Amino acid sequence: MAPCPSASSGFHGVHVRDPRYDVLFEKVEIGPVTAPNRFYQVPHCSGLGYRYPQAEARMRGVKAEGGWGVVSTQEAEIHPSSDLTPANEARIWDANDIPALRLVADAVHEHGSLAAIQLAHNGLHAANRYTRQLPIAPTGALVDSDDPVQARAMDKADIAEFRRWHVEAARRAKEAGFDIIYVYAGHELTLLHHFLLARHNHRTDEYGGSLENRLRLFREVITDTREAVGQTCAIAVRFAVDELMGPAGMTHDGEARDIIEALAEEPDLWDVNLSSWSNDSQTSRFSDEGFQEKYTSFVKSVTTKPVVGVGRYTSPDSMVRVIRQGIMDFIGAARPSIADPFLPKKIEQGRIEDIRECIGCNICTASDETYSPIRCTQNPTMGEEWRRGWHPEIIPRLDAPEPCLVVGGGPAGLEAARALGQRGAEVTLVEASNHWGGRVTEECSLPGLAVWGRVRDWRVWQLQQMANAHMYLESALTAADILEYGLPHVAIATGSSWRSDGAGRVHRLPLDFLDASRVLTPDDLMKKGAAALSSAGPVVIFDDDRNYMGSVLAELAAIAGHETIFVTPAPIVAPWTVHTLEQPRIQKRLIEREVRIVPLHELVGMDAGQLRLACVYSGRQQVIDCGTLVLVTSRVPNDRLWVDLNRRRDDWAGAGIKSVTRIGDCLAPGLIVTANRSGHEYAREMGVAGLQAPLREDFNLLPQPAPSIGQGLLR
Ligand code: ADP
Ligand code: SF4
Repeated sequence: MAPCPSASSGFHGVHVRDPRYDVLFEKVEIGPVTAPNRFYQVPHCSGLGYRYPQAEARMRGVKAEGGWGVVSTQEAEIHPSSDLTPANEARIWDANDIPALRLVADAVHEHGSLAAIQLAHNGLHAANRYTRQLPIAPTGALVDSDDPVQARAMDKADIAEFRRWHVEAARRAKEAGFDIIYVYAGHELTLLHHFLLARHNHRTDEYGGSLENRLRLFREVITDTREAVGQTCAIAVRFAVDELMGPAGMTHDGEARDIIEALAEEPDLWDVNLSSWSNDSQTSRFSDEGFQEKYTSFVKSVTTKPVVGVGRYTSPDSMVRVIRQGIMDFIGAARPSIADPFLPKKIEQGRIEDIRECIGCNICTASDETYSPIRCTQNPTMGEEWRRGWHPEIIPRLDAPEPCLVVGGGPAGLEAARALGQRGAEVTLVEASNHWGGRVTEECSLPGLAVWGRVRDWRVWQLQQMANAHMYLESALTAADILEYGLPHVAIATGSSWRSDGAGRVHRLPLDFLDASRVLTPDDLMKKGAAALSSAGPVVIFDDDRNYMGSVLAELAAIAGHETIFVTPAPIVAPWTVHTLEQPRIQKRLIEREVRIVPLHELVGMDAGQLRLACVYSGRQQVIDCGTLVLVTSRVPNDRLWVDLNRRRDDWAGAGIKSVTRIGDCLAPGLIVTANRSGHEYAREMGVAGLQAPLREDFNLLPQPAPSIGQGLLR
């Protein structure tokens, strides 16, 4: 039985673990080491890596504190010829990297969990922009980025060198304190995977050709690693069982199965998933919880070794089913552990309704893709555990809490109110409409975005448990109302509205030729649905926002049976969604829904039933039919209330108001992750002297590793 540890932790009451979930807390042996439970944080990128070692260590330590029995690093480059600059992965090039990695292992061990490290040589995925070494590959080929660089084919001496680098990296990993050491052949990102895949490996020697030959190096490296460190460390293999390319790639019922059968008992653990990363980390727009099971479930039938796999599991019942049905031995998680580092602890303490479920939006992957520290829509503390000292479950109580009024119940207002309530403030949350969630509630009614409603649901539930939180719907406040309330601290979280004048990126000024009677905004469609669309002609979506919204509205129109045309100044549909790993799926879906895509065009005119477009390069014009024009460009803050309140600034003191602060989209329209963080930051900083928490850079705190050249490949 777990007593309520502290009001500031957000834990409510006394709870007991439901015996149904006991199986999740069984110990599991992995070769020479034993995991304390079945919760396994598989390797995932964090954007913290070698440049922010303290932040990386604290983030992984928090996962262990939250009950993840195994906590892994992201991929650790084993050699300067695997240099992913400017990405910020882990590095284990030489002994200089050991102190930073030891921080991670120690932080994980502090909470009794096992620390795993994913060794990686990225082969032709690494353009080596910093070290300028020539990339290496089984067969000479272009690298897989757009760099004008070709990898050179490895000869036998190179293969021997690579094996030596891997062994030395494994020894360094052991010295750094890791319990589980990975051999990584997945995501089409590593040399070992490139050797396995026939399209990358055209060799004619004993390392190419037949499957037995292509898997030779994989087998050798597993054996080498076991001989080097296997007495005390477990050897895990991360392997992609399907590439979702059919016969053009490796499949779970073809060569991938043959490989696992051939190597079944060689590692101590099989970590299996899909390749590429965009298949492995599919968003909720394109897949449901457990989406990988149909590919990975065979693995346990061909090996006696423990198996871990992923599938965005957030429901403890699904987890139990996966174990009971013999699909896996461990519940692997990257994103669910990011959204809620304390997920295992919450199940253990019988607080499953407190689990902050991942919404499958891939803002976390977007951080890595943009070479920046990890962020999470659901968990505003992710990546800030060290820099800001933010803990996902604990916020210091206010010394002398004063009542707060939060106006607007979208993600910013909900999170601000929730976190203020957690800190012990008497908080009043007021919302104009008849529902909570603001934009989240509106957006999650659009095709494929239903799961995003979890952002609202978790916060509303938490607030409902707090005696010091008071929530009112259908209460549109005016400045006069707020002065009448007279609460000391007021947060204005009144959101934003989509513009209807076309101003955005390509058109910095409002367009003066628009026929307002035929123009709609995303707000119109979210409020009224497809019924708002005229059937007088095609629906044209003009997307200059370049993220998900334009494509989702195109789907809405197409599903409703409208001829739909998607016009964008960008070269592809929704280019920012490259970072959320969704872009190819989005473009494919629009094509499948028969949406006509017109890239690289801006708007230059609107006449009766027609739109005039111009090529962004040549200016060459074309005319298309248009019944309704949906403008997905930019948004304006709904800051009327803020402006009105400021006009009456002289009345604040008399009314007892000490501070009025804009948060979320009302301050600057952005992503949901930004609004949520804004609300959290407001609540965190309440009562903090100077209001600016330290913004620390941690790479200065460690001795800087000398750029290491290592041995070999100096050609
Ligand atoms: P954010 O993303 O910043 O949280 P949203 O647009 O999601 O912003 O939410 C803003 C919420 O504020 C909406 O639900 C809206 O109905 C509400 N709101 C706007 N103006 C008022 C007001 N004057 N009084 C109360 N609620 C308001
Ligand atoms: Fe899940 Fe989105 Fe958070 Fe990633 S950013 S962990 S996908 S909620």
